[in-house]
Amino acid sequence: MLKGRPARSGRPAKAALPAWASPSPRLSPADRERYAGLIAALQALVARPREKVVTALLQEASARVLLDLVGEAVRQGAPWKRFSTAVMEGAPASALGEADLSALIARLAGTAPALPRPIAALESRVQARRDAWACGAGCWMCCAINARVTALPAEVRAAWELLRDQPEETPPHPRACPALGADGLCRVYEARPAVCGRLGSTDVAACEAALERYDATGEVGRFMQSAASALDPWAFASLLAELADEPRRQVDLVTCLRRLRGGATMAAALTAGRAAHLAANPGERNRLDPAPRGR
Ligand code: SF4
Ligand code: SF4
Repeated sequence: MLKGRPARSGRPAKAALPAWASPSPRLSPADRERYAGLIAALQALVARPREKVVTALLQEASARVLLDLVGEAVRQGAPWKRFSTAVMEGAPASALGEADLSALIARLAGTAPALPRPIAALESRVQARRDAWACGAGCWMCCAINARVTALPAEVRAAWELLRDQPEETPPHPRACPALGADGLCRVYEARPAVCGRLGSTDVAACEAALERYDATGEVGRFMQSAASALDPWAFASLLAELADEPRRQVDLVTCLRRLRGGATMAAALTAGRAAHLAANPGERNRLDPAPRGR
């Protein structure tokens, strides 16, 4: 027999924006409702009992930061469409206000329910893992193994801004990312996608072996570790996609840069990059994507 309170009849109560969000009067009722739903979902995620695995901690920490960003968007009266597009495309937090992300968190820490402490603890664990990596300047095999780099549109735009005026170079491997220089250095390092900094390895020999294995068999295998930051724009985009049913926008950076090098517009390059990403990750198709051709 089921215990607990019986369900009430009638329409379920709508989620309300918490007082700390101080909604701007410029927000439309529909946008208030969408923000309220997202805030409730994020608060529920943060309130879950913590599991002792990195991914759960990461999700909780990212949810706390996203909660702060949502509160700021509500206060500023940012229309839902503009907010959600900015987050899903990976635009920096400055798109929502004039502050960068760390300044925004510092400013909100005293007033918002999210606390920066677990985020700081997670970031120090992430840094400790990164410190153990053998990765260094001029080490490039991971930029060439399977010629795919998942990125958000804003990351493609930022990388292209740095690459567009640089001369063509012959990279050290024919499959390499177009941003890899002949010297094995990333030519868009300051704007490389978050995934490039999130993955690394403690063993250079394992990376060399992975490149040889892929050359011979086409199999990637596991040779890298992940050390994702809670402040990674991808983390926010993934949470928003799941909690607010927003369409995913990940693209393949390598395809985009090759198209842009060939003279394609940014829109055409992103469309091709999305198709390439979906071909490699068919489970991520969403309502924005064209239906696959044929039967
Ligand atoms: S992941 Fe491997 S190939 Fe890439 S920089 Fe690190 S050690 Fe080098
Ligand atoms: S953007 Fe830079 S770090 Fe990332 S795959 Fe390309 S060359 Fe490597």
